[in-house]
Amino acid sequence: MTRKQLKEIARKEGTPVVVIDHNVVRANYKAFHRHMPRVQAYYAVKANPEPAIVRSLYKIGASFDVASLAEFRLVYENIKDLPAREQQDFIWDKIIYANPTKPRETLEALDQYKPLVTYDNLNELKKIKRFAPHAGVVLRLRVPNTGSVVELSSKFGADPSEAVTLIQAAFDLGLVVEGLSFHVGSQCMNFENFVQALNISASVMQEAEARGHKIKILDIGGGFPAPYHRDVESIEVLARKINAEIERLFSKETDIIAEPGRFVVASAATSIAKVIGKARRDGKTCYYIDDGVYHTFSGIIFDHCQYHLKAFKRGQPEICAVFGQTCDALDTISLSEDLPELQLDDLVYCEAIGAYSNASATWFNGFAPAKVVQVNE
Ligand SMILES: *Cc1c(COP(=O)(O)O)cnc(C)c1O
Repeated sequence: MTRKQLKEIARKEGTPVVVIDHNVVRANYKAFHRHMPRVQAYYAVKANPEPAIVRSLYKIGASFDVASLAEFRLVYENIKDLPAREQQDFIWDKIIYANPTKPRETLEALDQYKPLVTYDNLNELKKIKRFAPHAGVVLRLRVPNTGSVVELSSKFGADPSEAVTLIQAAFDLGLVVEGLSFHVGSQCMNFENFVQALNISASVMQEAEARGHKIKILDIGGGFPAPYHRDVESIEVLARKINAEIERLFSKETDIIAEPGRFVVASAATSIAKVIGKARRDGKTCYYIDDGVYHTFSGIIFDHCQYHLKAFKRGQPEICAVFGQTCDALDTISLSEDLPELQLDDLVYCEAIGAYSNASATWFNGFAPAKVVQVNE
């Protein structure tokens, strides 16, 4: 999108506003598919749960990773009346419930769909057996998360040494282990994590097979890095490593799936906000804008992400601080942005803010989350 288009949208819709460009969503999905043709992408809805994104991705062949009953329904409602298919296959082809811990009420509600769900411990397995006996199960493995911006291995995943026991336990309960999954951590920039995780999964699969349990699906999770800055290596480099390991370690019959969230949506959105206050404090100009850390910039806290603001106005840049609109000092977007001198009502914008942004915005202090606008839908 051009700066002119963005300015136009802010003028028409008001601020704060998040603009999602569906051409970019589709291009990211297609790039993922092009570089890893053997891998079916299940978009991780939590990265940005806009229904319009679900619909655009579904139309070009994507499947979905959901992590709550509400996300399951969001996907199901937005895709169910598109081409009908045999229900069981349709659900597994299109949705994986990849949150390893599920409330019993959620399992009860999901059972009618014969869902595909993950687990990583014996208690969860027993719960699945009791409340969703028609589910297929996928064992989530704990794998190294070294060098990923968001670490997940301390909360999720069965230790590989316990994996075969947990697979046997599922079969003993009368459940079928359909797959193995892992997550290398979000915004993974150490591609060795994927290589190690693939090798761990392959040995678990071989050991299970030796015990008579053939496992059909390998789910390589999310973590594919978004190109926030120049140091992030391209998906092409990562894909080459993943493809080579998959080729080497898994049979042709194994279905390989992935759960990219950030990679699909991060670069697809731009947020625009307005300067609502200006002060000079300790020799530095401070701007207050009508969006912030409790809102679209929530990724600063929850996603360990640093965003950079740009102005539409031209002028000599100077170091300044930018704060959000709430009454909390935590609501600090940056203490060192490079912006030209701005006045009240001037606009600032932030690119590549499509992942873990509006998804985790709150209503803190009574300020509504930014309006979300779809373009090229
Ligand atoms: C959050 C999450 C994802 C998406 O991760 P990204 O790093 O955004 O690609 C995928 N799978 C699971 C199980 C997750 O929790």
